[in-house]
Amino acid sequence: IAERTEALREALALETRAKEVYRSFVVTVAHQFRTSISVIHLTAQRQVRSPEDALTPETRRRFGRILDAATRLERLISGFLETAVIERREMALHCSLIDFNAVASVAVAQTRTAHPERRLVCNFASTPLLVDGDAVLLEQVVLNILSNAVKYSGPADTVRIGTAAEGETILCTVSDSGCGIPEPALGAIFERYYRAPNAHRLPGLGVGLSLAAQIVGLHGGRITVASEEGRGTDFTIHLPKREPPA
Ligand code: ADP
Repeated sequence: IAERTEALREALALETRAKEVYRSFVVTVAHQFRTSISVIHLTAQRQVRSPEDALTPETRRRFGRILDAATRLERLISGFLETAVIERREMALHCSLIDFNAVASVAVAQTRTAHPERRLVCNFASTPLLVDGDAVLLEQVVLNILSNAVKYSGPADTVRIGTAAEGETILCTVSDSGCGIPEPALGAIFERYYRAPNAHRLPGLGVGLSLAAQIVGLHGGRITVASEEGRGTDFTIHLPKREPPA
C-alpha cells in the first residue's frame, strides 16, 4: 500500500507540474500576442489619425478596420490574461482585515472618473463592514458590477450602490434601471463568455462576471442577481463578516 501511495503521489506531482508548465506557456504566448497586437493597433491608429490629405478615404477606411480588429483582439487577450492571473493566484489571495465600505468607495470613485456624466447614488452603512479579503481584487469585483450597471442602463438612469451588515454577512447591492436580464439567461450570466441576447448590441466579452463570482467565491462569499427584463437589475455581493480584533 505504501508503495502504491508513493507511486500515486509521484504521478500527481508530475501532473501538477505539467499543468503549471502548460499554463505558463499559454500565458507567455498570450503576452507575446498582446505585444504584437499593440504594435498593429498603434500603427493603424496613427494612420487613421493622420492629416486629411495623407491618405485616400479608402485606405483610411481599411486602416479603420485593422484598428477595430486589433482593438477586439487586445480586449480578448487582456480578458484571458486577467482570468489566467486570477486562476494562478487561487491559492494566494492577499487577505487582510479591510472595511468593505472603503473597497466600495474606491470602486465608486473610479466609476465616477470614467463616467462623470452619470448619476451614482451611494448609501453606505454608517459603521465599518469588516471582511477578511484581498482589497485589490474585491475593488475589481465592485468596479465590474458598477461598470455593467452603467453600461446596461440609459445615460439618464441613476445607478445605486448600498452596503449593509445582515447577521454574519456583509451585503453590497448595485442597482440599475436598465435593460435587465431575460429570465432564461439568468442562470447562465456567471458562466465565462456568456452574454445574454439583449446585451449583444453593447460591447463586452462575458468574462467580468464569471471572474467576479470566482473572486467572491474564493473569499467564501457569493453573488446573487435579481432582474426583470426592461426594468433593471440588482446584483448583491455576500461576504462573511469578521469581528474587529479584541
Ligand atoms: P460583459 O458585460 O462583458 O458582456 P459580464 O461577464 O460582465 O460580461 O456580464 C455577463 C452578462 O451578464 C452580460 O453580457 C449581460 O448579458 C449580463 N449583465 C451583466 N450585468 C448586467 C446589468 N447590470 N444589466 C443587464 N445585463 C447585465
